[in-house]
Amino acid sequence: MGVKDLWKVLSPVAKKSVPVKSLAGKTLAVDLSGWIVEFRTNQNVPHLYLKTLYQRASRLMKQGVLLVMVADGIAPECKSDAMALRSKEGGGVTNSVSRPLFKPIVKKCFEVLECLGLPCIEAPGEAEAYCAWLDKNELVDGVLTSDSDALLYGARTVYRNLEAQNKFDYAVDLYEMSVIEERLGMTRETLVAMAMLVGCDYDEGIRDIGIEKAQELFRELRSNHKDPFTRIMSWRENQELKKLTNSEEKKVAHCKLCQHKGTKTLHDKEGCHDCSSVKSCDQSSKVTCTCGSVHHQKEKHTLELRYYEKALRNSAFPNKMLVDEFLHANDDLVKPSLNWKPIDITSLENLLSTSYENLKMAELVVQLQMSGQSFLLCKDTTLNPTKILKECKQNFVKCFQVQWSKLASDRTTHDSCYTVTVEQEAFSRLYGEITQEYRAEVELARKKKEHKKETKKGTKKKNGSLMTDYFKVKKRP
Ligand SMILES: [Zn+2]
Ligand SMILES: [Zn+2]
Ligand SMILES: [Zn+2]
Repeated sequence: MGVKDLWKVLSPVAKKSVPVKSLAGKTLAVDLSGWIVEFRTNQNVPHLYLKTLYQRASRLMKQGVLLVMVADGIAPECKSDAMALRSKEGGGVTNSVSRPLFKPIVKKCFEVLECLGLPCIEAPGEAEAYCAWLDKNELVDGVLTSDSDALLYGARTVYRNLEAQNKFDYAVDLYEMSVIEERLGMTRETLVAMAMLVGCDYDEGIRDIGIEKAQELFRELRSNHKDPFTRIMSWRENQELKKLTNSEEKKVAHCKLCQHKGTKTLHDKEGCHDCSSVKSCDQSSKVTCTCGSVHHQKEKHTLELRYYEKALRNSAFPNKMLVDEFLHANDDLVKPSLNWKPIDITSLENLLSTSYENLKMAELVVQLQMSGQSFLLCKDTTLNPTKILKECKQNFVKCFQVQWSKLASDRTTHDSCYTVTVEQEAFSRLYGEITQEYRAEVELARKKKEHKKETKKGTKKKNGSLMTDYFKVKKRP
């Protein structure tokens, strides 16, 4: 998926293991296709993937992240060619679930996600392309995908490798285009050029050029003051490179020591013109050779000439369809209005054939209330705290274990209330009164205990039978 080995190259400038909690308040576009492929690997239990989907989405929501779900639409033409080719080569087997098979699964997933109140969009083309477009147009704050193509499609912020960090939170790796540009000197166009050379979902690339070689080539181009993308796109018409390739000029002998025209033996005897020496060579002046021989030009373009020739052997190079797909696929799209709706709890219970309790719905509702996402809740599903049970710590954060009143519509939970642990700081800000009551209670209990201790001490002293006295007597008979 995506440009071969691109993640490996970008990895050194990525921010690793960013806690999802730190993304609270952000809106992320999720490339659902990646999730489906991942979830579908466990197919033994029917509809298990829907439960996994619910768990992942709701856990992200609990961390205060707002989600927009995007699924693949029709594969772009250049991809269907590549897919057909791959399927032919692989004896009719593709490594991903084929699109027609995907459709009913996507439909089911959307049903669950819509019940969670999330906007679900079938992209006109690739899901990662649409996610990138949403990000580029600032309708979201980032894209969650495992497909590096998102960056080529124009995403500015990409999150990948979503993994459970501990019992309480996920972590993701963050790739920012601004950082990639600044630290690796690679623009979106450079990445597209990379895709053409190294290969991607739409193109096989040039034989024998891997991502490291492509980077070396780009370095050479930049040292010649050429922009990699523009230069590679103009290879076919480039007369300078054509001339150099076709030049039949014989290599002129150059001195091994100073690299100037002539031979070392000759320079030793008669000196070198470029070194301005009368005998031997004077390398300290570091003057480049001025003989104007073609091979100096060729030296400057060693890698470029090598890959230029290889690339042009393929009559379809450069693949303009690929460039169009990455840079202009969504040019004509109209901005959608993203709407989040209240969670439909009853439908979720039916769809996943499970209960309010099993869905850990109380936890989700409470966290949404606390993270300012009440618009994802109906009035009759919001919960009210009745009592703080105790203080505790979760992941080194001070928390309260709180009792919440049970919903009248919930007939499956046995307990008469819900118990949900929440962060102290946020809870006391929202429910000051209950917190104050609890603090007062704790204080009162502490005073009572102290008082009891004092009175106990007092009575003991009066009777003169303290434990220490007893030992004193025992030790010194
Ligand atoms: Zn010399
Ligand atoms: Zn010289
Ligand atoms: Zn020369």
